Amino acid sequence: MVDLKLDFDLQTLPVGTRIGVSACLLGVRCKYDGTSNYAEEAVRQLAERFTLIPVCPEQLGGLTTPRAPAEILNGRVITKDGLDVTESFQRGAEETLEIFKLLKLEAAILKEGSPSCGSGLIYDGMFAGVKIPGMGLTVRLLRDQGIGVISEKALI
Ligand code: SF4
Repeated sequence: MVDLKLDFDLQTLPVGTRIGVSACLLGVRCKYDGTSNYAEEAVRQLAERFTLIPVCPEQLGGLTTPRAPAEILNGRVITKDGLDVTESFQRGAEETLEIFKLLKLEAAILKEGSPSCGSGLIYDGMFAGVKIPGMGLTVRLLRDQGIGVISEKALI
């Protein structure tokens, strides 16, 4: 079982470190509904110290934008319509890991709550807006490989 708290302290990272960041946090409109989760102030501060590399595991997994919202239930990723999209989410996690390896990235800041990018909380699978402790498929894979992941909530 992966340690849910495999994270890192931003203050300890040297200036110029390359960090993988959920593309939606950087303003890319890759979210399931075709919008972004732009975290303007946090991005501005981060960009002053680090090099930010955008990744969107769900797009990397071949999913369309927009796409049906999905949540994790019993270890599977299921859309609101009841479609099992675990394979695409897993592919996206693996492609994201490839980018991290290629660019030798050792740290990530990913969007909390997402079935791919959530690092401490995910939705409970009932599409009722309820979050529970857990992590998305990409975070699980990155942490398995020793890559530190924190959420954007750690920046606020
Ligand atoms: Fe953002 Fe991650 Fe969802 Fe892509 S997979 S939209 S980067 S939270």
